[in-house]
Amino acid sequence: MDLASAWLPSTDDANPRSYFYFPGLLFYHAPMPKHPHTTDDSRLKGQVPPEVPLGPGDESPPTTPCPICLDAGFLRFDVPFDDPRFGQLLPCSCTEQRRLNRRRELLIDESNLRPLRDCTFNDFNPHTPELLIILQQARAYARQSNEGWMILSGPPGSGKTHLAAAIGHTFLERDKPVIFTLAPDLLDKLQAMSGDDRLAKHYEYLRKIQSIQLLILDALGLEQQSPWGNDKIVQILSYRSQRMLPTVVTLNNLLSSYPPHLRSLLSDTLFCSHLHIEAPDFRQLSLAQRFRRHPR
Ligand SMILES: [Zn+2]
Repeated sequence: MDLASAWLPSTDDANPRSYFYFPGLLFYHAPMPKHPHTTDDSRLKGQVPPEVPLGPGDESPPTTPCPICLDAGFLRFDVPFDDPRFGQLLPCSCTEQRRLNRRRELLIDESNLRPLRDCTFNDFNPHTPELLIILQQARAYARQSNEGWMILSGPPGSGKTHLAAAIGHTFLERDKPVIFTLAPDLLDKLQAMSGDDRLAKHYEYLRKIQSIQLLILDALGLEQQSPWGNDKIVQILSYRSQRMLPTVVTLNNLLSSYPPHLRSLLSDTLFCSHLHIEAPDFRQLSLAQRFRRHPR
């Protein structure tokens, strides 16, 4: 039998496929469209096309068919039947990109930052010169820090949570796992899992909070500092300080008013940067003041 004549090309030019007939068997032949980097019309022969570089604009799911695999998701070697690679499937670059997109979506869900998606550095409005300096320092921490802590304090509405969330978004852009949590919510959740029947869950979640790549502990105040709550916060922060894990804490009160052990952890000069924000409550600003663009 003439193998060359056994290929039965598809008549559908928009979706080129072919089937290989062998007595009693029919093999589906994955699409082998022209690779965009090639200059001739030949189908790929015996090689896998090079990866297509993906730029910033390619991060969202593709809306047009992949030009390499026509959305089949996989490529196969176009080699003779007796070649050891015959029938092997290799994931196309679009499959890898979809996997990365799914991972990023999972990271965003886990981070709790989806409701704060607008709290980015670009959306922060430095309406005073002091705020501009704070913005630059927070941005530098987010870009450069693989360790060290950022402590943000200031009155309500001064922008602490916005900057903390913006640091979190910057980590997520680098596919680093982040958890953003209000301190009272964290303690409530841990306390709800304190019963004997849920103790395993308690320690599982506690270990996750302790070891996540970036922890953002928002609105750490004195009101939730019961002995149990204080011990739990100290337990989490001690673990992270011993391992120099990046941590952002926003304080509702002056640092000097916190219990001694907690105050000591939050003011370690070896790895803590403390930014105190003195700015008017942005919620009290007029709309014109709130949305006016300031130089940055
Ligand atoms: Zn593809």
